[in-house]
Amino acid sequence: MIRVSAEEVERLLPYAECIPLMRAAMIALSQGRTRQLLRQILDLPEGRAFGAMLGAMLEDGVFGAKLVSVYPDNFAHGGPSHQGVVALFDAATGAPSAMLDAGAITAIRTAAASAAATDALARPDARRLAILGYGEQARRHLAAIREVRDIERVTVWGRDLAKARAFGGIACGSVEEAVAGADIICTVTAAPEPILNSEWVADGAHINAVGSSRAGPRELDDALVARARLFADHAEGVRAQGAEYLHALAAGAIRPDHLLGEIGEVFAGTLPGRTGPGDVTIYKSLGSIVQDLAAARHILAQL
Ligand code: NDP
Repeated sequence: MIRVSAEEVERLLPYAECIPLMRAAMIALSQGRTRQLLRQILDLPEGRAFGAMLGAMLEDGVFGAKLVSVYPDNFAHGGPSHQGVVALFDAATGAPSAMLDAGAITAIRTAAASAAATDALARPDARRLAILGYGEQARRHLAAIREVRDIERVTVWGRDLAKARAFGGIACGSVEEAVAGADIICTVTAAPEPILNSEWVADGAHINAVGSSRAGPRELDDALVARARLFADHAEGVRAQGAEYLHALAAGAIRPDHLLGEIGEVFAGTLPGRTGPGDVTIYKSLGSIVQDLAAARHILAQL
């Protein structure tokens, strides 16, 4: 059994390599060359949770699972809120073959997948990045998005202005101020109720909606969902667990076909992404096990 630490994941999974990996993994997902179950979440006391994701890449037989604990309260104490393992199995024998640190893989692959989506959906001249949140994903998104656009201005908002200042960039006292004129907006918070309203978002913006990965907590209001061209990482997942989509649907703000399809179809060129400079686009990220498997396979191939 091979074990791969968080440090090794960091070393062997740079954003520049992970971004094209995520692109390929999402195309494979959209073309039916992967298989996965919807994420299972076991709620634990005190707002904590335990998640399980199972999947397979059908072409080379890689299959495995990710098990993660989510302890949102760890953030306030300087610890990671997502911890766990990605377990890979040997396609020929069925035996477990590797265990990799899931915290690092999740952090890097999520931001890399958003960067790939941003590359496809944001305006080519996008320069102004707004980040809502200042935790692990905020830091990762800042680094990954810089790989796909020449970012000239970064604004950041969070509930604690002192923490926003410590994050770097231009710290803002309100979401409205942070997103004013932004070309790319990343929502990477654990907020339970919408923090981003449509009226504050400029025409032409691209939004990576990342912070909610289950039915329930939402970061975007219904008007913003209704206004945007909406793309999923995994359409079946978003229809079952995408909180912003589900809320807008239940409120009558959108119809089911408002979800245009998957980012993998946009990557493959079979679904139009942005149709003009004034479009608002949303990439709804729930996170997918095939992203973890693709990342793990890439890391193991280098050992
Ligand atoms: P962290 O714990 O590192 O950061 C959490 C962030 O959310 C902090 O900025 C925190 O700041 C903020 N936050 C918490 N509660 C609220 C609130 N009520 N309103 C506004 N902000 C809040 O977590 P990560 O950066 O690792 O993850 C961020 C979110 O993204 C989480 O919800 C996580 O579940 C999700 N996620 C999604 C993935 C995907 O694939 N789509 C993958 C990994 C994570 P403060 O408490 O100071 O306000």
